[in-house]
Amino acid sequence: MKTKRTNLLTFTLALLAGGLLPPFNVNAEPDTVPEPAGIEKAENIDLEEPIEALPPTEESTADTSPKASNAAAEPTPEPEPEPADPYEEGMPIVLLGKEIPPRTATRLAWSAGASLDGISGSTPVLVVNGAKPGPTLCLTAAIHGDELNGIEIVRRLVYDIDPTKLTGTVVGVPIVNIQGFRRNSRYLTDRRDLNRHFPGHPEGSLASRIAWSFFTEIIEHCSVLVDLHTGSFHRTNLPQLRADLMNPAVKDFSENFGSTVVLHSRGAEGTLRYAASMAGVPTVTLEAGEPMRLQDKEVAHGVKAIQTLMNKMGMRKHSRFWGDPEPVFYESTWVRVDTGGILFSDVFLGKRVAEGDVLGTVTDPITNRREEVLSPAKGRVLGMALNQVVLPGFAAYRIGIETPEGEINIPPPRDEDVLDSSKLDRASTVEPTEMDPDLEPETAE
Ligand SMILES: [Zn+2]
Repeated sequence: MKTKRTNLLTFTLALLAGGLLPPFNVNAEPDTVPEPAGIEKAENIDLEEPIEALPPTEESTADTSPKASNAAAEPTPEPEPEPADPYEEGMPIVLLGKEIPPRTATRLAWSAGASLDGISGSTPVLVVNGAKPGPTLCLTAAIHGDELNGIEIVRRLVYDIDPTKLTGTVVGVPIVNIQGFRRNSRYLTDRRDLNRHFPGHPEGSLASRIAWSFFTEIIEHCSVLVDLHTGSFHRTNLPQLRADLMNPAVKDFSENFGSTVVLHSRGAEGTLRYAASMAGVPTVTLEAGEPMRLQDKEVAHGVKAIQTLMNKMGMRKHSRFWGDPEPVFYESTWVRVDTGGILFSDVFLGKRVAEGDVLGTVTDPITNRREEVLSPAKGRVLGMALNQVVLPGFAAYRIGIETPEGEINIPPPRDEDVLDSSKLDRASTVEPTEMDPDLEPETAE
């Protein structure tokens, strides 16, 4: 313990003295301190080169837990103080039991631990450690295994980074829920929604154990996190951030994604976004498009948004700015249909609507009775259902209501997705019904 603290202190002082402590490194982890000898260096690879198989995962998840590293570090003598130069050349980082030197990229593997290995399998963790020290930006996708756009966003982004030109570190996990991905399913094999179990527990349910392993081994090493999602169950979303704008660190973070709309939402307990933000890692979700599909326009928006973020965080130097666009902030309400039948939309994603505008119609194919679905407010279509057969109460449209920056001061409901939006009641609170695998289907995130 003592050794570890001394190391951290020396490291922090060295950074402060050099004026190098990056402004975004809000969560300077002890684990990013160069460990004493004994940690295997990760191989520097060209991430774009195809591979035969993932490298084996580390034997024990305990290897990277703070307790275990402390225990291991104790008998080790104090390492020689590092000369100042290496700091300017970037810092090695330690993740999943491997040391990743600066100016290198590597592919590691994460699985939820030996006891679950046969069930969960391992999934790639792409790490690019830059030439200069800086924040660790984490990108996670496919926590819902059927949400494919995020997988491609992470792939395009991470493979495009030149580690010799990067400041800080990018950690990309393209497929968090490998179980769901293999079965084309949102859920884990036990039908639980992984994104309702963070930060998890080592002795909890399968979902809770997987969440805990991922949270402690990856997420706690991040400075900031973007969790990538799409709409769920035959719904689609305009590319948008979900952010708790009542949290100042999250609000600041959400302003860096260029011309991407920001939807104010606290997030349900158990979501990775909520748990990571609570643990001091400012997190937003980036929603883009619909599940089960790969959509080029949505993918391109996501890539551009995160490249803009990296520019703003000083992680890369590129001139791919969006001409300095301003984010637009929204609160939102769901519009539910009152009758069953076939839903046909008259609007498209991103369309601006006035109160009373027809959003779509529901026609009963047996009686041919038709009912119009009207917008309850002036706003913009941020999410909507695809044309399909619907039952009464089905949440068909999500209308974003533009909110001047600074005027978002109503604590949002815990889970805005289950708002009863027959009325425009933005202040109503719905108690979460989490930990139940049979979620409200419109709970997208
Ligand atoms: Zn999702």
